[in-house]
Amino acid sequence: MPRTVDNFEALKSLLETRQKECPECSGEGQVEIDVPRPASFGRDIGELYAEWLACERCSGKGEIKIEE
Ligand SMILES: [Zn+2]
Repeated sequence: MPRTVDNFEALKSLLETRQKECPECSGEGQVEIDVPRPASFGRDIGELYAEWLACERCSGKGEIKIEE
């Protein structure tokens, strides 16, 4: 009888890799941050503009390992 059971177990453990969606970026892998733009000539109020950065928590993967 072929060792299909072993293969199945291997596949199953692969699928059950202990990772979950990163709570920091909701699985996006990047986070939107508001960067204050300094006031310049003709503009007396600083503006905010959004910038996307790779999520530091999951290194841009969107998933984090569950430490147990
Ligand atoms: Zn993340």
